[in-house]
Amino acid sequence: MSGDQTLVRRTPWPRGTSWPVGTPLQPSVVYASESPDALDDIYEGREAGYSYAREAHPNADVLARKIDGLEGATGGFVVGSGMAAVTAAILGVLKAGDHLLGGNQLYGRSLRMMSTELPRMGIATSVADACDPAAMEAAIRPETRMILIEIVSNPTLRIADLDGIAELAKRRGLLLVVDNTFTTPRAVRPLDHGADIVVHSVTKLLAGHSDATLGYVGARDAALGEAMLGLATTFGLTASPFDCWLAERGLFSFELRYDRAEANARALADHLDGLPGVRRVIYPGRSDHPDHARARHLLGERTGNMVTFEIEGGRDAANRLVRAAENIAFAPTLGDIGTTLSHPATSSHRALSAEARAELGLSEGSFRISVGVEPDALLRSEFEAAIRAAAAG
Ligand SMILES: *Cc1c(COP(=O)(O)O)cnc(C)c1O
Repeated sequence: MSGDQTLVRRTPWPRGTSWPVGTPLQPSVVYASESPDALDDIYEGREAGYSYAREAHPNADVLARKIDGLEGATGGFVVGSGMAAVTAAILGVLKAGDHLLGGNQLYGRSLRMMSTELPRMGIATSVADACDPAAMEAAIRPETRMILIEIVSNPTLRIADLDGIAELAKRRGLLLVVDNTFTTPRAVRPLDHGADIVVHSVTKLLAGHSDATLGYVGARDAALGEAMLGLATTFGLTASPFDCWLAERGLFSFELRYDRAEANARALADHLDGLPGVRRVIYPGRSDHPDHARARHLLGERTGNMVTFEIEGGRDAANRLVRAAENIAFAPTLGDIGTTLSHPATSSHRALSAEARAELGLSEGSFRISVGVEPDALLRSEFEAAIRAAAAG
C-alpha cells in the first residue's frame, strides 16, 4: 500500500450497461449523497434515495412493494418481526387512555402484549370472541378505538366473522386491524373486506423457509401508514436487509407453496379422520368444522395449510407420536416449506391451566400440523405410522 492507496477507502462499485437479474443484497447502513441540497431533496421526497437504513433501505422496500401487491395496500412497510408489526399498528395509532379490543384467540404474544405491556402504557385492553360480532360489540367501551383480530385462530382453527366485525368497526367508528399471518392474502385480503390495517408475521408462510424473522404492516389510508412508519422508525423496529432479501426470494414461490400445502392439508385431514386412536380432526375445509359455512363464504376453497387433531392417550402417547414422526420437525412454528408439528399444551398454550385448555377443546393429545409441500402420500403414511406408534404404547 502506498501513495493514495489505503484499505480504509472504499473501492468504487463497478457500474456498466447490464444489471443483475437476482435481487441485489444491500447491507449498507448509510448512504452518501453529493451535497446538502441533494440530501435535502431526498428527505423531502423530491428525489429518490436513501440516507440511513433504520429509516429505509432497498431490500425492505422491494419486499414491502411485493406484499403491498398481494394485500392490495399502498405504502406498506417491513419491520423486524411479526410482533414488531403488531407493535407498530398499535403504538403508532393509539395513545394512553384508549382501549384496544382484541379477539380472544389471538397469537399468544399479542395477548401477552395486551395483558401486560399495553396497560403499563395506559392503553386499556380486553378480549371477546371474534366469531361473534355481538359479543365484540358488547365489549366496546366509550374509549375503544381499535379492534385487533386474526381470521383463523390457533390451534382450534375457528374462523372469525371478518365481515361482521368490519361492519361493526365501521358503524362504531373504530379502526380494524387484521393479523393475516395464518390466512395469507392467497385466501383473503382484509383491506378489501373493510379492514384499515393488515399485519403479517412474514416469518411464516410468506417467507416460508424458517430462516428470516420479519413483519409487514399495510394500511388503506396513507396518513395512518405514515403514523405507523414513524413509530417503527423511532422505536427502531427495522428489518435486516439480509432477512428481507431471503423473504423476497421466498415469496417467488409463495403461491405454489401455498396451493400445494393446502391440497396436502385437505387430503391429510381426511385421512387422519379415519384412523384408529384419532379422537378429532379440525380443518376448516371439512363439513364437520363448526365454522365451515363461514370458511366457505369468506375463504372459498382456500381453507389453508393448518390441521389440528387429537389422539387418545395423553402426554405419553403424545411423546410416542413425536418420537415416531422422526422426519417431521417438532417445532413451534408454522408456514415452513416442510411440514412441522406442534403440541399446544407444552408450547403456545402452556401458560393456560389444563381446565382453560379443556375449555378451548385442547388436551395433552392435541397436535397442530403446519402442512408443507411434501408428496401427499408420504405425509399420509408418516402420520399414519406415528399415530399407530402412539397408540401401541
Ligand atoms: C408468529 C406470529 C406472530 C409473531 O410473528 P414473529 O415474526 O414471530 O414475531 C404474530 N401473529 C401470528 C398469527 C403469528 O403466527
